[in-house]
Amino acid sequence: MNLRRLACKLDDSTVKQLTLKDYGWGAHFQAQLTDDDAAFLAVRVLAVHRDALDVAGPGYEGRVLPFAPSDDDEVQATVGDWLLFDVESRRPARRLERRSVFKRKNAGSGRRVQLIASNVDTLLLVTSANQDFNVARLERYLALAAEAEVAPVVVITKADLSNDVEPFLTAARRLMRGLVVEAFDAREPLSLECLEPWFGRGQTLALLGSSGVGKSTIVNSMRGEALLHTQGIREDDARGRHTTTGRSLHRLKCGAWLMDTPGMRELQIVDAAEGLAEVFSDVAELAAACRFSDCGHEGEPGCAVQAALDAGTLDAGRVKRFGKLQREERRNSESVAVAHERNRKFGRMAKRVFANKLRNREW
Ligand code: GDP
Ligand code: ZN
Repeated sequence: MNLRRLACKLDDSTVKQLTLKDYGWGAHFQAQLTDDDAAFLAVRVLAVHRDALDVAGPGYEGRVLPFAPSDDDEVQATVGDWLLFDVESRRPARRLERRSVFKRKNAGSGRRVQLIASNVDTLLLVTSANQDFNVARLERYLALAAEAEVAPVVVITKADLSNDVEPFLTAARRLMRGLVVEAFDAREPLSLECLEPWFGRGQTLALLGSSGVGKSTIVNSMRGEALLHTQGIREDDARGRHTTTGRSLHRLKCGAWLMDTPGMRELQIVDAAEGLAEVFSDVAELAAACRFSDCGHEGEPGCAVQAALDAGTLDAGRVKRFGKLQREERRNSESVAVAHERNRKFGRMAKRVFANKLRNREW
């Protein structure tokens, strides 16, 4: 790829007027800056290509070189990251610590953890007030949000198609303490006012939900037409602006940033033990009071979960779903841990072989 041929859109007036805050900057990132960083520009990653990153920040929008290749996926930049970059070398100098990050098991190798998106403020879990509404699925999404450290909001669309939306609201509110749940007719712009805080300037959000539940309708009603950003930057190979990952960050007319993350629905629960315990804190707190720390809540003596079930203060379905997600989480996390160990061992072995080769080399 010829970087010189890639235009840097410094003359774009909309880009120039945006402040760091408009790009999603906040105290968390500000606190990471030191005096030595004065020479760098802070930019946000909008898309990740195999050999370049599309970034934008106040006064700069264009392509930069990625970090040097690394075995550790976490080192690499992902969509939503904040980078400090050196204009001259066009290299990112540093990635700022993330506020939140979605990860998944890498489908290709089946093992490694792959980063999906970072620094998302809000995850809108969209479902409709009909047969799409499924508590198990919502709990799974909530666990993903909790693990990523992203605030979830449950959004129930098609309230107009239901005679009584109240049972849906009640069921959703029971899924997690303090959970924000909204219901409306998504085609009615006025009813969407409740979503405004999450569509504010500089807010980064992602939507998750089955096809047809009304995600695009919400985004469109929230003045969510995407503004042209990286679209003016094309590689000269005429293949257009195909990004390697397919994930990208778009600025909406309302000033919010929409994370476009295909494949998010297929995310597996991995390394999410804490996220699960947060979503199921009602069950987890009881389980902590069971006599045995590895209590299976299946008739063991001194089981606090069973006692709550007997007393009718806990829903049996919820306990079952928690157990199912926990087993899935353990299965996934173990295979990642095993693979990680294998990679480490291989790395050490390769180093040894290489060192021996050097030692035995004839000069
Ligand atoms: P997406 O696949 O999640 O993006 O769903 P869309 O936004 O494309 O919506 C699918 C269909 O549902 C469209 O025909 C919308 O007009 C309709 N729709 C979306 N939200 C509502 C709603 O709240 N009430 C009703 N009755 N229809 C809706
Ligand atoms: Zn128990």
